[in-house]
Amino acid sequence: MTAENSIYQQVREYLAYLRLPAIADRLAPALQAAARDSTDYTTFLAELLKAEVDAVEERRLQGRQRFSKLPARRTLDQFDFTAQPSLDRRLIEDLATLRFIEDKANVLAIGPPGTGKTMLATILGHRAIEAGYRVYYTTAADLVARTSRAALDGRWTNTMRFWNGPQLLIIDELGYLPMPGEAASHLFQVISRRYEHGSIVLTTNRGIADWGSIFEDTTVAAAILDRLLHHASVLAITGDSYRMRRHRDAINAIRPALSTRSQGGEFP
Ligand code: ADP
Ligand code: MG
Repeated sequence: MTAENSIYQQVREYLAYLRLPAIADRLAPALQAAARDSTDYTTFLAELLKAEVDAVEERRLQGRQRFSKLPARRTLDQFDFTAQPSLDRRLIEDLATLRFIEDKANVLAIGPPGTGKTMLATILGHRAIEAGYRVYYTTAADLVARTSRAALDGRWTNTMRFWNGPQLLIIDELGYLPMPGEAASHLFQVISRRYEHGSIVLTTNRGIADWGSIFEDTTVAAAILDRLLHHASVLAITGDSYRMRRHRDAINAIRPALSTRSQGGEFP
């Protein structure tokens, strides 16, 4: 074994010991390329280190994605604004800059089922993850179920710390299930602990005036709204369900064929 060879082996051992697999992978071709192109030392080192930095970033990104429990990635350019004229496009684009997370502000998306609330929350969630933020997605029902279980099992403190951890907490689907007193109080505690400390994106099918009917206790409803809305953007979606719209378009497109069999009016 030549001296050069044994130094090369030594370098590989250092890389294994320091757990730098991306550099280890590229070392041999990088040495050849550097010799061929007479690359200067600094450039050579920078290129190898960048490979490792990129690999670490990619691993962390995937870790944040796995942790978040977010639905599959969606992007803003997949969102059809023409289908939802009640939405302020500039406001969505402003939210997509993620300044609201820096400001520890909230987003409240209100609208009937199928109007893109979960999609918008998912778009913001993935953007935040890609910008390096920790994000967690849950439904309101799941959040209160887990918090109640934790209270019973003596894991209250840990669970509250968990809900407080991510820089963006997405609470989807408030209002589909009624929230009795204790559940409402748990939701209130999660929201009030995050107040001015971390952002919440909350989606609901119930208008604010209707929140009294989600919560048994209107005082808790008012307290939750107070914390949520103090620094918040409200997306009020009044349009049609996107799914229903597509069904309707599909049905209207085949209407001539259907009308020979049925006498129904225009599908609403
Ligand atoms: P919500 O959470 O308001 O009930 P979703 O976000 O689940 O509605 O939307 C229902 C379906 O329609 C999803 O597949 C979503 O991607 C799609 N969708 C809704 N609104 C739009 C839109 N404006 N552009 C593109 N797809 C949309
Ligand atoms: Mg939804």
